[in-house]
Amino acid sequence: MTTIRTRFAPSPTGYIHVGNVRAALFPWLLTRQQGGQFILRIEDTDRARFVPGAEDLILDTLEWLGLEWDEGPRRGGEHGPYHQSERLDIYRQWAQKLIDKGLAYADPYTPEEVQGFREEARAYKKTFLYRDYRPENPPAWDGKQPLRFKVTNPKRYTWHDPVMGELSAGPEALDDFILIKADGYPTYNFAHIVDDTEMGVTHVIRGLEYISSIPRYLSLYEALDIAPPVLVCLPHIIAPDGKKKLGKRDGAKSVTDYRTDGILPEAMLNFLASMGWNDGTEQEIFSREELIEKFSLERVQRSGARFDEKRLLWLNGQWIRRLSLDDLYERAANYWSKSAGSSTGAYKKQVLALVQDRLKTLAELPLMSRYFFEEPAVDLELISGSKQLRKLDSGEQRELLQIARGALAELDAWTPELIQQCLNSLLEKTGQKPGTLFSLIRIATTWAPFSPQLNETLALLGKETTLARLALAISAIKG
Ligand code: GLU
Repeated sequence: MTTIRTRFAPSPTGYIHVGNVRAALFPWLLTRQQGGQFILRIEDTDRARFVPGAEDLILDTLEWLGLEWDEGPRRGGEHGPYHQSERLDIYRQWAQKLIDKGLAYADPYTPEEVQGFREEARAYKKTFLYRDYRPENPPAWDGKQPLRFKVTNPKRYTWHDPVMGELSAGPEALDDFILIKADGYPTYNFAHIVDDTEMGVTHVIRGLEYISSIPRYLSLYEALDIAPPVLVCLPHIIAPDGKKKLGKRDGAKSVTDYRTDGILPEAMLNFLASMGWNDGTEQEIFSREELIEKFSLERVQRSGARFDEKRLLWLNGQWIRRLSLDDLYERAANYWSKSAGSSTGAYKKQVLALVQDRLKTLAELPLMSRYFFEEPAVDLELISGSKQLRKLDSGEQRELLQIARGALAELDAWTPELIQQCLNSLLEKTGQKPGTLFSLIRIATTWAPFSPQLNETLALLGKETTLARLALAISAIKG
């Protein structure tokens, strides 16, 4: 059996967004599952769309996700160079093979002339095919005209795509496409076939936008006497409105933006893999190892998968909960509010232990924990905005807080258990429900929309701080 070799072949034209990183994840999963190699190739032949810095961004993204590649930039390998712009001689040699076989020719027309043919075909309501206008005696190719592939045997192609199933297209899908452009660079259509062949790629996995070109690729493989690899097209990821393919214009964010927003790579991988794929069970949380074990192309769904950011946040919360405290502490290092700066690691870990279950992203950490490090600003709207608390007038609110403060002040030891006992006894004493009394105390001591379990929060704030904040709240609530 040959070892499986897959590749990810991004063009350095910008960041990789969540819609296209699956084209890296799925081939990576396959090779990790089957003991093959995953190649990274940079397709930088479109000089007009080249964006400086984009390649590093792409590489950093893959590294952050843990999609390590076996060959390619930053790694090297036996099949390099891995940048198409450094492989121009190779493409020229392959082009020469086709010229020698009479299967490639110089395109003598100006772009305006080709445009004229296009318009003529449209006027006759015919699909434009360059081969209908193929020159009879093309000049020798001097590298300055485009070089075109000559389709000599237009016919129907049928192929099997493990995701999309049995596919077929008639001769109208075939044309004399450009192999090498007038600027000397190869087209994607030509270069990727040369590279996939030279690099021994066994499975080409890419987006659905390539599906209509596959017959052309098959005709070129045939002309070159090469057995084509397995050709796979992945369904699109659909924008949240459910209408079109998710693209940068619909706000598809860069994967690295999610990193900045405090999404864990584990959650991102889990999310990406489960968009359009499942293992046939109800399982939703998959670790890298489980994905590697369970992934199969055959279970990738054919219809587009809807991009659902809420699900990403939910998964991220699930992954945050699964981290050990030490691990969470390390990953949270850059997310604390400024005021946390001088606190000890031990104190920060105590805070983390309290908020861990509630965090959906690491970037929420300041909002969720600021009041453990700095005196919160009184925000009476938190009280007036609460359905239960609105029912009490300000006199009642003050009175409840006074009673609570008095009882808490009497505690000899300040532990979560004793605080809880005290809070329970306050329910009896005041006849209030926990939803009212505890919310009021919670808000009066944190002035935050959410906070962890009340007794734990007060325990960590300390007795002195708790009592001082209650006193401040009592004086702030005016009647
Ligand atoms: N360079 C192409 C792109 O970025 C890659 C397509 C492929 O995987 O072959 O869309």
